[in-house]
Order: sequence, then C-alpha cells, then structure tokens
Amino acid sequence: MTYDDQNIFAKILRGEIPCDEVYRDEYVLAFKDIAPQAPVHILVIPTGSYVSIEDFGLNARAEEITAFYAAVSKIAQGAGVTSDGFRCIANAGADGGQEVPHFHMHILGGAPIGPMVIKS
Ligand code: AMP
Repeated sequence: MTYDDQNIFAKILRGEIPCDEVYRDEYVLAFKDIAPQAPVHILVIPTGSYVSIEDFGLNARAEEITAFYAAVSKIAQGAGVTSDGFRCIANAGADGGQEVPHFHMHILGGAPIGPMVIKS
C-alpha cells in the first residue's frame, strides 16, 4: 500500500486544487463531491496520508481515527441528513471501485439513496 502523493485529494489537501469545503480541522477535511450522486454528497478525508479504509484502520493513530469518525457524524448533522437518514460509503481497491487512492468516506443523503448494491 504505497501512498501516491500526486493523487487529487493530496493536491486538494496541499491547496494545489480548490474544493468546495464543508469542514476542516487538524485531522479531517470535508468537501462537496464534484459529481454529486445525491442532493447531499460530501467526501470526508483524513489529513494524513492513507490509501484506503484498510490502511487507515490498520495504520492511523487512535486520535486520527476517533477524530475522523466524530467528524463524519458532525458533518452529517451539519448537512441536515441525520433525521431522514443517509449512507456512508468507503470504496476500497479495484473491486470496491475506488478511483482516488486517498481514503475517503462518501456521505450521501437528501433523498432515498436506493439499493445498497445494484445487481447485474
Ligand atoms: P471513489 O470512486 O470512491 O474513489 O470516489 C472518488 C470520488 O471523488 C468521486 O465521487 C468523484 O466524483 C470525486 N472527485 C474526484 N475529483 C474531485 C474533485 N476535484 N473535487 C471533489 N470531488 C472529486
């Protein structure tokens, strides 16, 4: 799991590419997805360099993990999706459909999100 520091979210974290920021603290940055799949579609990323949810869970410090998941809850509340419900998705690797190799959690809400997996 080698981290590629040229991935687009690394560039956003360094301020080289703009984002529509929703939340930021020492451990977390959240911004609106550029191609939203729901009325609310926010990406939450750790400020540390982790390839995937697997890398994050195995290698991040406890305070990074606690801050990350607390931020996901705060951001969902701030986006107004907690009363009607929302979905969090963390795609990992090729079979998971992960496009950007910096761990990120999608928060999707604002309307029914549909089936968990589309069966072909
Ligand atoms: P994933 O397939 O889980 O890796 O999701 C990557 C997500 O990043 C997709 O939903 C993209 O629309 C989103 N994305 C890619 N580039 C940007 C960007 N510059 N700003 C915001 N979202 C982006």
